[in-house]
Amino acid sequence: MSRKVVVERCWMLVGRRQGPFWYARRVQRSVGKPTSVAFDADWALAREEAKGDLVGFYHTHPSGLATPSVRDDRTMAAWVACFGKPLLCVIEADDRPRAYLYDGRLRSGVELCACERLPRGIVLMFDDRTEDETEENWRNQCEASTCTKKSTAALAK
Ligand SMILES: [Zn+2]
Repeated sequence: MSRKVVVERCWMLVGRRQGPFWYARRVQRSVGKPTSVAFDADWALAREEAKGDLVGFYHTHPSGLATPSVRDDRTMAAWVACFGKPLLCVIEADDRPRAYLYDGRLRSGVELCACERLPRGIVLMFDDRTEDETEENWRNQCEASTCTKKSTAALAK
């Protein structure tokens, strides 16, 4: 009974996109079960209606894999449809966050080149894709090795 159970945690991400950068802050934390966590949907909708600055969601995967689950894909698709704009899904495992952009055109999110968690709940992400690139480019670009170098250099500025 004394064994500590690691549970998923999640936050809303509020912020903005500016050029290739996404600036976000984690707010409104909620705590779930070892393999799931529920988002505070009422809060998210109220925030978006009041300020229009909800950019996505941040949650942890205690299992250690920072990739979206089937449930994450479904949840994000519903949110994107609900908000009518692209949303980020940031997943943290082993203290390292990875960011995925869901824009409603693809079933799953497309990973951004870089994602860093800074002190005070700030999350900085870098995306070197432009919106008029083809879906295939969106899928392939982050797998190119130059992407990592470029994004790391940009983050260091
Ligand atoms: Zn998840």
